[in-house]
Amino acid sequence: MSAPTIDQSSVAQERRLVTALPGPRSVELMARKQAAVAAGVGTTMPVFAARAGGGIVVDVDGNHLIDLGSGIAVTTVGSSAPRVVAAVQQQVAEFTHTCFMVTPYESYVAVAEALNRLTPGDHEKRTALFNSGAEAVENAVKIARTATGRPAVAVFDHAYHGRTNLTMAMTAKVMPYKHGFGPFASEVYRAPLSYPFRDGLDGPTAAARALDLLEKQVGADNLAALVIEPIQGEGGFIEPAPGFLPALAAWCRAHGVVFVADEVQTGFARTGDLFACEREGVVPDLVVSAKGIAGGLPLSAVTGRAELMDAAHAGGLGGTYGGNPLACAAALAAIETIEADGLVQRARDVEDLLLTRLRALQAVDPRIGDVRGRGAMVAVELVRPGGTEPDPALARAVAAAAHAEGVIVLTCGTHGNVLRFLPPLAISDALLHEAFDVVERAFAASDTTAG
Ligand SMILES: *Cc1c(COP(=O)(O)O)cnc(C)c1O
Repeated sequence: MSAPTIDQSSVAQERRLVTALPGPRSVELMARKQAAVAAGVGTTMPVFAARAGGGIVVDVDGNHLIDLGSGIAVTTVGSSAPRVVAAVQQQVAEFTHTCFMVTPYESYVAVAEALNRLTPGDHEKRTALFNSGAEAVENAVKIARTATGRPAVAVFDHAYHGRTNLTMAMTAKVMPYKHGFGPFASEVYRAPLSYPFRDGLDGPTAAARALDLLEKQVGADNLAALVIEPIQGEGGFIEPAPGFLPALAAWCRAHGVVFVADEVQTGFARTGDLFACEREGVVPDLVVSAKGIAGGLPLSAVTGRAELMDAAHAGGLGGTYGGNPLACAAALAAIETIEADGLVQRARDVEDLLLTRLRALQAVDPRIGDVRGRGAMVAVELVRPGGTEPDPALARAVAAAAHAEGVIVLTCGTHGNVLRFLPPLAISDALLHEAFDVVERAFAASDTTAG
């Protein structure tokens, strides 16, 4: 399949290095960052962006980098998608804010209508808008608790749900997300995930293991919600075995537990479906979206069954900025772009290209233990050859080598041994092939088994 026909921006769609990376302007800015910005705010690549569009990020030294990260799965439609740019430009001149809870505006309602239409299931739905993924996850828990009158929340191994206090409690990995930041919110319980590469279990068996633990250690009657990422993001792009999610959803339905799909990373065409739950026909009670929803503007949402969403008293949900008019204008433009430009299909075509390239690499490199993922959300898990021992040093080395050649790649995983690929869907096939040529060379140049 060919690349999308959309004219992304004036950014030349080619990898071009005019300095070593980071270049001198970036080095200067990095020194200012270190002097001015809190050290806890990390940096994947010490290269400062000047503009971006299509599949390219241009840095302040004029280097053109291929973007396989989308700012962590956010700029699915591109980082200067024409419809988004035009919609935000128009809105910013009309008004920037009134607070939807003070004097509402139409675009918020239109985003809610769109989400009610687009999320899985044809039951009656309602939506509430927020600013970040973590804030939306917190609100999904608030809604589930008030609707059920129960306190407990079930989450999973390797889960990532955010950096606020409640979502830190829900997140699995201590470094860097939780270390030193406790005490954490109570009534959060963790169940084992389905992790086919490491547990070899089929979906229903893995679900039975998780549900047995929840029944014995928490009790269904105490559970307000079960919150799960249909494909885990930060935890390592772990795709549960078929049957795992449907079994969890069925158990939730049988026991009055609210099934919450955290589709913050997987939503909005990223996985080759509008929402990842659709692949197995799972209909969540509540869907949390953010990241890809608004072409890069901060917006998040909880969408779900009307009777759950309407359980909270008036004034119980909201926030000063939630559903900001610029973000809503951007979301409507992003949704129009996904639908008009066929980006769900584009994600499936990107999947074919990525999996073909990565499986070819795996066939000749025993350090690639697993190739997995869907759509434009795929990853390789790196191991010591001959087994499943995680090799985070190799992931770091390959990422660093790719960065030096002007390709933005990210790592993830509980062990830090997963290289993940999240290109914008506005990228061309030619750029993807060039990026994976670079990744291939980065693997060849990264011999961490010798030492
Ligand atoms: C990124 C992410 C979050 C948190 O979103 P923020 O906007 O960073 O608060 C929550 N859940 C998942 C699955 C994510 O990938």
